[in-house]
Amino acid sequence: AHPVTLSVQLHPYGDGRRLMLSRDVTALEQAEAMRRDFVANVSHEIRTPLTVLVGFVETLQTLPLQEDERARYLGLMAQQAARMQHLVQDLLTLSRLEGSPPPGMAEWVPVCALLRHCEDEARALSATLARTPAQQHRFVFPTPGQAQAAGQVAGIAAELQSALANLVNNAVRYTPAGGSITVAWEPLADGGARFTVRDTGPGLAPEHLPRITERFYRVDRSRSRDTGGTGLGLAIVKHVVQRHGAALEISSVLGQGSVFGVRFPAARVRAQAGVSPAARS
Ligand code: ADP
Repeated sequence: AHPVTLSVQLHPYGDGRRLMLSRDVTALEQAEAMRRDFVANVSHEIRTPLTVLVGFVETLQTLPLQEDERARYLGLMAQQAARMQHLVQDLLTLSRLEGSPPPGMAEWVPVCALLRHCEDEARALSATLARTPAQQHRFVFPTPGQAQAAGQVAGIAAELQSALANLVNNAVRYTPAGGSITVAWEPLADGGARFTVRDTGPGLAPEHLPRITERFYRVDRSRSRDTGGTGLGLAIVKHVVQRHGAALEISSVLGQGSVFGVRFPAARVRAQAGVSPAARS
């Protein structure tokens, strides 16, 4: 049984009798606790880079520094500023998503464009994170022909693009050097389709899975920060996916890797005209 919070009010009548009103405010109280947590988290996430930034400014103001040292400090300051910028961008994205109505059938977005965007971003990110070419990830993406045959999905292109790319980027960020990442788009028997990203990263323990899409929930704090994470990525993905009537599916085996999938319902998927279902498989 879950604890329940009741708000009880006693209204006296003039004749000594009282009317007792009780209201279940459990949901209200939970919402308020979540709001408090969120504000505390945001403040903490901003305070850390800000403290570093203020420290560097003071150093630059007070210490006579060599040119190369100055340049190094400025570089570190730029990193902290970028971190805050990403956080603010993600916060604005979240609040915009929370405040706007679902996109309906908006437009038909070619799946091949979504896949190409994911591939470009993931390869660039892998190249940035790897210190040597040998450390880059091995990628398997649908071939151009397969991507073309995948057809179209209904929704807001920019939202779908950033959500799917976010899942692929996470696979890159959490999978150690040299690991492999496989991206697929498969038609489903019910007429829908599923986008999947499979990685050979650290995987997630079962107890983390239900919480992984909560804002600021992180399993590996330092890996998240080192690779530019804000802790809001999956919360944004989940919003976009739900707004599009799709479902986010996560399965993972600790020590072996994870699979992040987005399942689109039949109503949102349109096969490529002129491509027979047989050619699509
Ligand atoms: P972050 O900015 O921290 O990456 P996300 O919301 O994108 O925030 O992800 C939340 C947490 O989920 C991450 O901090 C990480 O611990 C975990 N995570 C996400 N994707 C993966 C993955 N592919 N493999 C392992 N852990 C992951």
